[in-house]
Amino acid sequence: MYKIFNEGMIEVITGPMFSGKSEELLRRLRTLEYAKLKPLVIKPKFDTRFSAEEIVSRSGISHKTHILDNIKDIYDLLKQDSYKAVVIDEAHFFGHDLVLVADDLANLGYLVIIAGLDQDYLRQPFGPMPELMAIAERVTKLQAICVVCQHAASTSFRKVASNKTNLLGNYHEYEARCRKCHVHGEKMKKVND
Ligand code: ADP
Ligand code: ZN
Repeated sequence: MYKIFNEGMIEVITGPMFSGKSEELLRRLRTLEYAKLKPLVIKPKFDTRFSAEEIVSRSGISHKTHILDNIKDIYDLLKQDSYKAVVIDEAHFFGHDLVLVADDLANLGYLVIIAGLDQDYLRQPFGPMPELMAIAERVTKLQAICVVCQHAASTSFRKVASNKTNLLGNYHEYEARCRKCHVHGEKMKKVND
């Protein structure tokens, strides 16, 4: 059973694409409702893949969310209601300011739950996520299934040619892979260049 703590703390939910981060966030949101910890839910402006104003998991469940360009604007939103928790999806798209803001909010007593990719498509630590994982009280690291060998997958392999780190995408652009199949796939890309 997932335990909720009233006092300020940070939980990070991370892993590759398709690993169930959004599903896990939505499950947390349901529990917060029972615990009467009213959550402010936000995601970055950058992520508009499924819906501009909702967190939507691939299994179809959703929750209303605020879209923020600058994470520091969260303080204005928090003044508008008696929120006890802050839930942030697609956190890797926020800048390093998120590390300072998340730490501050936990110090102020909020329960801060953050979901985001730990690695970019080249397996490099993604944006503010490594630091968030370091300062969090709890880290939940999920895995998907490697589409090549069906073992546990920890990486998001890019199937299309682009060097942009922040390339939005879904099944057409990305697939979950294990380390071995990811490294092999990157080698094949170079050979075919
Ligand atoms: P995330 O937010 O981590 O991208 P979602 O919560 O949106 O993940 O979706 C997770 C769901 O995606 C899984 O429950 C499963 O139904 C589906 N899925 C699609 N591809 C895979 C895969 N390769 N491995 C595991 N689940 C997958
Ligand atoms: Zn594999």
